This record gives sequence, structure tokens and C-alpha cells, in this order.
Amino acid sequence: MLDRPHPTPEAPTMDPFVLAKALSGQHFIGGRYVPARSGKTFPVVNPATGDEVARAAEGDAADVEAAVEDAARAQKEWAKTPARKRGALVAQCAAILRAHVEELGRLIALETGKALRTESRVEANTVADILEFFGGLGGELKGETVPFAPEVLSVTVREPLGVVGAIIPWNVPMLLMALKVAPALVAGNSVVVKSAEEAPLAVLRICELMNRVLPAGVFNMVSGFGPECGAPLVAHPKVRKVTFTGSVETGKIVYRTAAEKLIPVTLELGGKSPMIVFADCDFEKTLAGALTSMRFTRQGQSCTAASRIYVERPIFQRFVDAMAERVDKMVMGDPLDEKTDIGTIISEGQFEKVSGFIEEGRATAGANGRACSAMPTDPALRKGLFIQPHIFTGLDKESRLVREEIFGPVTCIFPFDDAESVLEEANDSEYGLAASLWTNNLKVALNLAHKLEAGLVQVNQNLVVQANLSYGGVKSSGLGKEASLEAMLEHFTHKKTIMVNMG
Ligand code: ADP
Ligand code: MG
Repeated sequence: MLDRPHPTPEAPTMDPFVLAKALSGQHFIGGRYVPARSGKTFPVVNPATGDEVARAAEGDAADVEAAVEDAARAQKEWAKTPARKRGALVAQCAAILRAHVEELGRLIALETGKALRTESRVEANTVADILEFFGGLGGELKGETVPFAPEVLSVTVREPLGVVGAIIPWNVPMLLMALKVAPALVAGNSVVVKSAEEAPLAVLRICELMNRVLPAGVFNMVSGFGPECGAPLVAHPKVRKVTFTGSVETGKIVYRTAAEKLIPVTLELGGKSPMIVFADCDFEKTLAGALTSMRFTRQGQSCTAASRIYVERPIFQRFVDAMAERVDKMVMGDPLDEKTDIGTIISEGQFEKVSGFIEEGRATAGANGRACSAMPTDPALRKGLFIQPHIFTGLDKESRLVREEIFGPVTCIFPFDDAESVLEEANDSEYGLAASLWTNNLKVALNLAHKLEAGLVQVNQNLVVQANLSYGGVKSSGLGKEASLEAMLEHFTHKKTIMVNMG
């Protein structure tokens, strides 16, 4: 339980600039804020202006060591807490977060550049929803009785794994953290989160808020860079499970280290998700669906972004034109302004990367890239990392824009002639995270849904991850599932068999 006084205000704080400053320079270990042992910090930048708004503790192996040791100590008692009681505490955390939704939405908008109305506030609400969902699952940590022999009672019990290391990215850090922390805790594990260097603040505040309810040491957080802070967390001998969301490249490094220790991992990596539109679709609904599918309000910074759109030839041109027209109407601007639909790219590094893809597309002979939405004109935003959404047509299937995850507001649209050929194209990808189908022909939809290589296929909708529905990809998109009861049972517990000979 958290003891005051703390650097952060107890009440919801609506000024994100004030809260960002108060959260500066801290990890959260053993139930309290602590600075990095080295004393080092690094800047947290508002991508809408380029201004430094806070500094984050720059963690290294020494901080990881402290956090894991505290987590290991706390986990022993936590595991003895009845499962439903653990769940009730996580549900209590959800109630606290509900009271802080506005605060958290503003803070995440400030540090990530995601628009408050369309993205950041939504994310904060979803976090509370995920905690509520998992909070109710304590009683589901059931085992089985196994028929072995009449005189031998054979049962299985679900036991926690121990200390879980959770590494998260910057695109939806609060939500992705909740998908890891909530099931891990309810299952009786303790957790050390390594936040993303680009967005360490809102998740740190959540850690503090949850520590008002949880016993000290069961939920800890360190901030810092991947190799210096993430790698020692994965490698720590007392970390008995790693759950990671991020790039394929880093996911492979994490997996290799985990293999040395023979510990289980969950990996949620990239995507290049196809959206397949048939001529018989509900045109208006599908158009609106294309905008949300491409996650334009998140600047396309989503693993499930519909970055390859296949449209049946008879409606191809009409669809492309109508989509561009719709995106044009979206407002780019200050993430904290309620009028804004589209905010900024997270960092200069990503800005360069995404811009590189766009330049390459523009330079491709035969390709057409339409830049949509007006750039903001407010002089206060002149250093903001704004990129106009781009809709490309005429690209070659082998183009880097079609094969690689751009993680920006860039989509490629292709015409297709029949279900068989579009299926082949859709599956011709290293990735297999999500896919969506838009048609009123149930037979076609079900047939393709079965044959698409993806962890999640949606027909006539394309929602982001939802509590209670297993989420996770195939191929290079990752290993394991998140967000569901199955995910909690399979990825945060092991099954012990106990046999009692009564003969
Ligand atoms: P990005 O391209 O956004 O940097 P990453 O996969 O590199 O995506 O980052 C996702 C998370 O993984 C971040 O929290 C980052 O700090 C962390 N990370 C990066 N490199 C490593 C590493 N070698 N070991 C552990 N974590 C890492
Ligand atoms: Mg990286």
C-alpha cells in the first residue's frame, strides 16, 4: 500500500504539464517512487511542439535488480492471497482509474501526441475496462480432476509463474500494459514493467494509482532504454516469464534470451493487416470502417492498421476517391484540442522512418500517393511531428510499402478481381495479426475468414483489441494470446498435477 507524501498529486490532475513534471525522474519500486540508482534521467518530449515536458529515470541493471528483488519478495505473499481477493483488488484499481480517466487521457496525449478525443481518452477508459474484466476472473483459476484410477485422486491446480517481466511499446502503452499486468496479477504473479522510452509517464501514474490498492512490490515499474534496461529485465534469473509487445526485431532478441533461461514468452509483434472490400459491401459503412481500420486517428501507429486495402475492381476507383475525401475532412492539430482528430507521430526517429516510406512511394513510377488532411497552421505547432495521411495506389506488390510495417498513416490500395486471388495476396505476407472482410455475402466471408492467415478476422467491422476476446498473431506477428481468460490461464500460470493414492 502506498504511503504519502509523494511527488505526484493525489487527486486527478487535469493539467498534464504539471503532472508530467511531478512524475519526473522516478521509477516505481516496492510501493514507492524511487529515482534511478545512477541518478541519470532522459527527456520526455511533447511531439506536438518539440518541448521537453518531463525527464524520466534512466534505468539500468541495478534498478532492474532492485525491482525484481522486491517483486520476488512480494510475490510469495501475493500468491497466498485468495484468487478472488486478488481479482477484487484489481477491480478496485479499475475503479480508481475510472476516476482518473480524464487525467490519464490528457497525460498520454501530451507524451504521445495522440488526440485526446479520438484516441487518448478512449485508451484510458479501455484500461479500466480491461482491469474490470480480469478483476472478475479470479475464480476462474480452476484445475481439473483427471480420471486415472479409482483409488487415485488426480487433480490439476493452476499456480502462478513468479515474477513476470513486461516490456511495452509507446503506441498504446496504457492499454497494452493493462493486458499484461491485470492477468499476471490476478493469477498470483508479481510484475516488473519496463515502459517505452518515448512514453513513460502515464503508465507510471497508473502504476502509482494501482499501488494505492495493491500490496507493495507486486506491481513495479522501471523506465529506460531497451538494451540498458529491458535486456537485463529479460535476462534476470528471477524473472520467470516475459511478455513483450514491440517490433519483430526486438521480439526475436527477447525470445533468444528467454530461451537461454527456458522461460515462457508471449510476443505481440507487428502486422501488415489486409482489409478486403467486396463490391456488394455496404459502401458507406465500409468507408467509415476503412478510416477506423487504418487507425488514422492514431496516425496509423497500430499493429492492426489496415495498411493493405484490397477493393473489388468495380468499386475500386470510387472507393479510393471517397476514402481520400473522408480523410481530407479529418482535422490534424493539437492533440489536447477537442476538435482534433489526428495528432502527431511519436518521435523524430519514427517521423524520419515514415517520411522515408512516403518519399519512396512518391518516387515510384506508376504509383500515386494522395496526401490527405490539411497540415495544422498554428505557429505553436510548427515543430510538431505531423504527417499527412497518405493513400497509395499503383504500387508494386513487392514494394517495401506493401511488405513492411510502416507504423504511420500510410495505406496502399489495390484492385482485385476474385476471392481466390485476393486471398493469395492477403496471405502473401510475413505477418499474420489481423484481417477484415467487408461483404454481405456470408458464404464468401466465412470461406475467406477460415483461410486467412491471421489471429483475428473481423467481418463488417474492425475493432481494436477487446477484453474477453483472444488477441495475438501468427507467423512473424507473434506468439501467444492476450486479453482473454484463456490468455490468463495459458500464459500466466502453469498447471501442476497432484495425485493422491487413497488405496
Ligand atoms: P520500437 O521500434 O518502437 O523502438 P521496440 O521493439 O524496439 O520498438 O521497442 C519496444 C519495447 O522494447 C520498448 O520498451 C523498448 O525499450 C524495448 N526494447 C528495445 N530493445 C530491447 C532489448 N534489447 N531488450 C529488451 N527490451 C528492448
Ligand atoms: Mg527500438
